[in-house]
Amino acid sequence: MGSVGRLVLEENVCMVEMARYFLELVQRDSCAECIPCRIGTRRLLEVFERVLKGEADEGEFASLAEAATAIGLAAKCDLGRIAGRAVAEVARHGQDELKAHLEGKCLATVEANRGWESVVGRDA
Ligand code: SF4
Repeated sequence: MGSVGRLVLEENVCMVEMARYFLELVQRDSCAECIPCRIGTRRLLEVFERVLKGEADEGEFASLAEAATAIGLAAKCDLGRIAGRAVAEVARHGQDELKAHLEGKCLATVEANRGWESVVGRDA
């Protein structure tokens, strides 16, 4: 993630929660200069928040992948581009995880590691 970063996760990290958490960081760090990042990642974050509450509709997953792909292509710098690409991957390959959350389940055993906040410098 980011322009040169590589992310290594254990198998039991919830990708849905991870995507939500990453989008939250992107929203915090976005300079708001371009709409795909400023507004687009906000909309993606809202979808993930609703998925995690079990309030989203399964029919939204296709448009989630489509919107994330568009953001990945249209954002002005790597922050927004990488956010779009990462979320598009989760939306495409994480269908089972996304559907499970709509049923109030999680296929992972732990949510995204909150210790990341110190690694990425949440308050930096
Ligand atoms: S993608 Fe880059 S330029 Fe666009 S709002 Fe996000 S941080 Fe700013």
